[in-house]
Amino acid sequence: MIPFNKPYLTGKEMHYMYEAVHTGKLSGNGKFTKKCQEFFEEKYHFKKCLLTTSCTDALEMAAILANIQPGDEVIMPSYTFVSTANAFILRGATIIFVDSRKDHPGIDEDSIEGLITDRTKAIVPVHYAGVACDMEKIMSIANKYNLIVIEDAAQAIDSYFTFSDGSNKALGSIGQLAAFSFHETKNIISGEGGMLAINDEKFSARAEIIWEKGTNRSAFFKGEVDKYGWVDMGSSFLPSELIAAFLFAQLENIDDIQLQRKKIWIQYYKGLKDWADKNEVKLPSLPDFATNNAHMFYLVCKSVEQRTELIDRLKKNDVLAVFHYLSLHKSSFYKDKYNGKDLKLSDYYSENLVRLPLFYELTDIQINHIIESIVKNG
Ligand SMILES: *Cc1c(COP(=O)(O)O)cnc(C)c1O
Repeated sequence: MIPFNKPYLTGKEMHYMYEAVHTGKLSGNGKFTKKCQEFFEEKYHFKKCLLTTSCTDALEMAAILANIQPGDEVIMPSYTFVSTANAFILRGATIIFVDSRKDHPGIDEDSIEGLITDRTKAIVPVHYAGVACDMEKIMSIANKYNLIVIEDAAQAIDSYFTFSDGSNKALGSIGQLAAFSFHETKNIISGEGGMLAINDEKFSARAEIIWEKGTNRSAFFKGEVDKYGWVDMGSSFLPSELIAAFLFAQLENIDDIQLQRKKIWIQYYKGLKDWADKNEVKLPSLPDFATNNAHMFYLVCKSVEQRTELIDRLKKNDVLAVFHYLSLHKSSFYKDKYNGKDLKLSDYYSENLVRLPLFYELTDIQINHIIESIVKNG
């Protein structure tokens, strides 16, 4: 069976973990944590980075930093992972779900402004498949209404947005805050893991406090205060040095990992284009302002029947292909709380989207087998 995902090891992970163990510094915010954070700050121009134990945790930190209060409204797509919404539900927010774009599962930027009320606090765009939302449009709406933008960049490492003046910015460096994931299904991994990127300096000091269980321990170790204690709410959001050591080995190889993933993505695209056109199946489309970080290769079938047939056929050929999110506004947890309108495109992607295996060690033989299994029946 060709699995949907297989975590890739660069070879240095155990070496750095051994080093972390050997130096006797196992808790968080040590040498490897700093190396990882500096790497991201330098390469992608995030103002400040804090590693977390997951993207879910980074989103929860962002919700605290944004000072979300019960009854506040937070705007986000319905076609996303539960953590995007949970982080704000935990603070008592009301979630205002938005439909997807016609050409892409990401948030329909043109539907956002009409949903803003005087209770709206934040917009949470999700860069689905690592493909940028229209951040220029979203930032200008947010500025107009004085809202915070928190990018769910879980899938979006090493991906960029191009502004209308031609300049580029890394996803995760545009909103005031952004959350990344290093879960084993993402491009760069540490098993479980994540990161909060802080691009507005006014959040930096408080972010460190929330990260360190509500204490000013970070400032104390930097010599900025002469004793440390409990100064705010917080939790245990920082990962151990073992996780950071593992992650650092991945980061040293990020360019190689990205190159290989993009190569596979292009092989799929070329191998499936004619078949897709003939069978009314859509291949991933990228808006002009977005780059491709090859996080995911998906197909959008013309019907749920066509998708089921495809998944079954791939399974018979020993290939595991999987569908993705079910619209959050229709989930058993939220459906009774939801009183907005139908979100037809979100439901459309819930029913028709299927993801193909995409991982570093996928061989040419396997890729050709997957493509053959798809195209041979028509
Ligand atoms: C993976 C993912 C998350 C959650 O990441 P964890 O690190 O597993 O907490 C959140 N949002 C999106 C869009 C994701 O793809």
